[in-house]
Amino acid sequence: MKIREIAPKVWNFKVVGGEKAWEEVAYSARMSGVPEIITGENIFRMIIENDYGSALEHILIKFDIKMSKGNAPELLEHRMASHSGFSTRYLAASKGINAGSQGKENLPIDFKEGEEIYEIIVPWHLLGKDRNKDEEKNKLFQAIEQSLASYKSMISNGVPREVARYILPFCKAVGIYHYTMNLRSLLNFLSLRLCVRASAEMRCIASQLYLLLERDLPLIKGLIGCRGFVFGVCPESGVTGVREGNPLIFYPVCPFRAKESKIFIPTRKEFSEKGRPQGFDRETAYRAQKELFLRWAQWGKY
Ligand SMILES: Cc1cc2nc3c(=O)[nH]c(=O)nc-3n(C[C@H](O)[C@H](O)[C@H](O)COP(=O)(O)OP(=O)(O)OC[C@H]3O[C@@H](n4cnc5c(N)ncnc54)[C@H](O)[C@@H]3O)c2cc1C
Repeated sequence: MKIREIAPKVWNFKVVGGEKAWEEVAYSARMSGVPEIITGENIFRMIIENDYGSALEHILIKFDIKMSKGNAPELLEHRMASHSGFSTRYLAASKGINAGSQGKENLPIDFKEGEEIYEIIVPWHLLGKDRNKDEEKNKLFQAIEQSLASYKSMISNGVPREVARYILPFCKAVGIYHYTMNLRSLLNFLSLRLCVRASAEMRCIASQLYLLLERDLPLIKGLIGCRGFVFGVCPESGVTGVREGNPLIFYPVCPFRAKESKIFIPTRKEFSEKGRPQGFDRETAYRAQKELFLRWAQWGKY
């Protein structure tokens, strides 16, 4: 039995209609009377900036995700999406998914015939640590090995997969989904999960999606990010020390917090007392958050 550490992964990303998919939004806006003098590109940007979200529902985005089974419910909490998932009822947990059919890409981590590999997502703060030297990592691996050995033994004793799976660990990478989301919902997802308060695994996935969306729909560049960046005001008032500069251990520091950043974006509560954002020009803020997302997208780099 081999255990393989993998990173949360987004692949087979596709904006239906390609980089000109925004034309669909402009078309729908013109139905509402937006005059010809305004270019389609400007309409698309205006729709996002003014939060006229329903027009964005005409753009569909498709992708595949692999993540820990334990964190997958956080992803599924986003209800405005369609997804089909890997079945631990019908498939052995030692199988990854071969997504090479129907013209889609394989993951570069395919399994050789007959090979038995259990993929796991190690919590990011234990990444790179040597289990022989790190007590916590060793504890994690002992628990995983025990759990997987019991899973295997139950199946070889004739227990159905749908029963044996109850013993699988939280970190088992069988949270595999094929997703379809419209742009409105994806932007809502990104605005919530590109926040320093989101879990590390969700930030990693959201950052990959952010970078892929910017690559494949370049007109969106500079318009998306966390809620503070998008609206110039952040709803996360005084939660878990993030805004006061005293975040919980393992939380990254908010790039738009006053003390350590030149950019200050107020919370809704602060807005009435301290007023407008400071040092907040969109280009600087865009670069500050993108630098963060490039790191988060690479599992373990914080
Ligand atoms: C940092 C962070 C911490 C979190 N902590 C917790 C937690 O402790 N416990 C927990 O349970 N969840 C938690 N969540 C999940 C959160 O509560 C949402 O369920 C999740 O982020 C999905 O957001 P959403 O509802 O906007 O998205 P979607 O479900 O995709 O919905 C999109 C939008 O559609 C509308 N909508 C959807 N369904 C309804 C409805 N039934 N009625 C009215 N409008 C609707 C809303 O406008 C919503 O914003 C957390 C999320 C984050 C980012």
